Amino acid sequence: MGEIVEQIMEGFLCEGCAGFIDGDEPGFPRKCSSCKPSKSKHKRKRKKSKHRGQNANINQ
Ligand SMILES: [Zn+2]
Repeated sequence: MGEIVEQIMEGFLCEGCAGFIDGDEPGFPRKCSSCKPSKSKHKRKRKKSKHRGQNANINQ
């Protein structure tokens, strides 16, 4: 019954979501990439810039 818990404790499954990580069992609980708090991951807001192609300023 506690297979999932054991696998989490072995590091096979994520301790955050009990999801599959990468198949390794390091022997200690760990989290998958989506549960890890990552500092470098910032959701970049895409600026909606409307650039219309204007050919008026082209010097020929
Ligand atoms: Zn997870």
